[in-house]
Amino acid sequence: MVLLPKIVATGGDPPERMSTTADQTLFVAALVLLVVVFILLFLLRKHNETAKQLQVEVKKHWQIYELMNLYFFEYEYAADQLIVFEPSAEKGEPNQRKVYSQVSTNGQVPFAHLLADFLRRKQTGVHEVLLPFGGHQCWLQIAMCTELNENGLPVYTIGRIANIDQQKKEREELEKKAQRDSLTGLLNNASTRVQIEHLIQQLEGEEQGALILMDIDFFKEVNDGYGHMRGDKVLTQVAEVLRENFRPGDVIGRPGGDEFLIYMRGVQEMVALAERCGRLCRRIRALSGDGLHLSVSIGAAVAGPGAEYDLLYERADRALYRAKAAGRDRFHIVPWCLPGTSEEIHSMNGGV
Ligand code: GH3
Ligand code: MG
Repeated sequence: MVLLPKIVATGGDPPERMSTTADQTLFVAALVLLVVVFILLFLLRKHNETAKQLQVEVKKHWQIYELMNLYFFEYEYAADQLIVFEPSAEKGEPNQRKVYSQVSTNGQVPFAHLLADFLRRKQTGVHEVLLPFGGHQCWLQIAMCTELNENGLPVYTIGRIANIDQQKKEREELEKKAQRDSLTGLLNNASTRVQIEHLIQQLEGEEQGALILMDIDFFKEVNDGYGHMRGDKVLTQVAEVLRENFRPGDVIGRPGGDEFLIYMRGVQEMVALAERCGRLCRRIRALSGDGLHLSVSIGAAVAGPGAEYDLLYERADRALYRAKAAGRDRFHIVPWCLPGTSEEIHSMNGGV
């Protein structure tokens, strides 16, 4: 009986103390659990917020795509997959998302196939390209950005496509108009020169061409006697005669006033050129009528390899002057010879 308190003393805490320790452990464990749960809840909330934010951002992008009415695309190089976001045909409808796989080898959708091929060849920037789009060949403007990996190899390309077909055609039309003389529709002075210079530079071997300068005789009298409107009509009729008498590959321009400039390609013989000049004189004379007599004087210079525009123009101008001085309604031709060598003037009557 005397020993019992000793055994209890060495064998452990009294029961009340034991339960206090267990309670403390439980409390700490609960606390840790609570903290973990709290952290998890916090992280979950954060994740949800980020996901929501991301959704809002994606939605914003889609809304921008829809507002801009443009095509956007993503191309994944490893997967060889192209995703195109198409604007909806109807206002308010969501965009369409089209996925094209194995585009490099699959030519079934020519647009996707050729677009992927284009993206592979081009670098980040804005490019213009002609592609089959919406059922026909279309000029597209492609703004693209290619992301490269650490080895410099492309990972993906994103970009947008704008249909600039209409714009491009209008621009080309305007450029064409700017090259033309508004009265006759023939090329203006600057464009005539550019096109003739281009053809002269291409001459080689035995090839020859001819620069033909033609001026209406006493045109001032047409204006003075019949009015400016009649003068304009004569100019358009002369332009029509030129269109009928030269081939599409030849250059026909009106540098100004009552002067016309033609570059004839493939001049084989002087006789053929003389025949052409004579025919022109006859055709213009045939426009006479109602008391109005019309005729032209022509100066022509033959061009061979090594010819220069200024030199040819000078020769043709000199030949024209001679034709005028010799009585008008005729032509003079300067055969081809290199600058510095003697020139021979062939004079022939335009009525022949
Ligand atoms: P020549 O035989 O020496 O060539 O005499 P010409 O009277 O034809 O003289 P010139 O070639 O110098 O005269 C050109 C005239 O063409 C002068 C100008 O009044 C007229 N002209 C220039 N541009 C136009 C135009 O667009 N319309 C009309 N109707 N007349 C024009
Ligand atoms: Mg004249």
